[in-house]
This record gives sequence, C-alpha cells and structure tokens, in this order.
Amino acid sequence: MTFDKFNFVDTLQEGLDAMGFDKPTPIQQEAIPAIMDGKDLIATAQTGTGKTAAFILPILHKIAKSGSSDINTLILAPTRELAIQIDQQIQGFAYFLGISSIAVYGGGDGIVWEQQKRALETGAEIVVATPGRLIALLASGKIKFNNLQHLILDEADRMMDMGFSEDLLKIVTYLPKNRQTVLFSATMPAKIRQFSSKILTDPISISI
Ligand code: AMP
Repeated sequence: MTFDKFNFVDTLQEGLDAMGFDKPTPIQQEAIPAIMDGKDLIATAQTGTGKTAAFILPILHKIAKSGSSDINTLILAPTRELAIQIDQQIQGFAYFLGISSIAVYGGGDGIVWEQQKRALETGAEIVVATPGRLIALLASGKIKFNNLQHLILDEADRMMDMGFSEDLLKIVTYLPKNRQTVLFSATMPAKIRQFSSKILTDPISISI
C-alpha cells in the first residue's frame, strides 16, 4: 500500500514525495486513519517505527483542510532533543503547506528563551514543547490555547519516568475540553493506562 490511500491534501502529498516517503509503516497504517477520523488514541510504538510521522501527517492534513491560523495542535515531548526532532520533521513535511511550528524547550540560554518568545508572538499552528518550559510560559500568560483542537503526547512513558505527570495534568487544565487527544508510548504499564483515563475520552488502542 502507498500513502495515496489516505487522500492527503495535494501539498502534503508533495511534501511526502519530497521527503522520499513511499509506503506507510505499520504504525502509520493504523494510526493515520484513526487520527484523521478524530478519535482519541493510545498507541504503543517504539522509536524507529515511524511513530513521529504517524501523528504529524494526519494533523498537518487536518490543519490544511481547516485553514486554522491560531495554535491548533500541541505536541508534548520529554526532551529538548526530541522536541527539536519533531519540529524539524514537521517543517520538512509542511514545506508546501504554509503551516508553521515552534519548538519550546528549556535548558537553553537567555537568547533561546527570547527566540522562543518572539516566535510565539509571530504565531504558529503547531507548538512542540517540553512540559517544564510550557508550564512556565502558561504561568506567565505568554501562550494561550483557546482554539486548540489536538493534543499529542509523545513518549508518554518517558515523560512519566522523568516526573512530568503533575505538569502534564496541569497543562491539560489550560486546554479546551473539546479536543482530540493522542498518546504514544513505547511501553504501556498500568500507570500509563490510569493516566490516560484522566485525559483521553473513549480512546481506541493500537499496538505495534
Ligand atoms: P521515528 O520512529 O518516528 O523516529 O522514525 C524513524 C525514521 O524513519 C525517521 O528517520 C523517519 O524519517 C523515517 N520514516 C518514518 N516513516 C517512514 C516511511 N513511511 N518511509 C520512509 N521513512 C520513514
């Protein structure tokens, strides 16, 4: 099977062709239609399976269709390296789409902080963030998610192992209740399922 089956908007299909993506991986075959359908989703998938594109592609398609200009999607990741990697993959696919993303993470110097704040003022449809830095931005009122449609948690097990559970629950209180939530995790222990039940609604589960 090829990506044609998903009927992505033409500009996204062009991005896929430019990135040399030809066939969807198993996690992409299962997750893409579920996310396009608007379902809440719990996906068990390891790094290297194509999990990043599995959530980026349907989200870019939906944003392109809806023409949203406010922050539409929040992606949470455990580390700045992963946040940067996700942001770069979005920019690769979105080249022909006119959709922008911003990575917001801690640990940088004051210049990084200033750059992130300036980028937020310019605006973007997608924010990729580490939980600690996002909490600081929310507390200072520098970022608002009034029109957010999608929340994605990537590597949820790692975020929990790093002690971000409370931060994640707090972040969710700043988001509209009526949103689609997708959680990816390499492992699915009981504590992740319990956590999921607090922030997802009737999720479907897939495992690769
Ligand atoms: P990930 O599991 O998201 O870290 O992806 C692992 C690597 O596979 C990344 O370098 C992706 O760019 C690449 N990749 C993901 N999906 C595909 C695909 N359908 N075709 C070719 N490469 C892919």
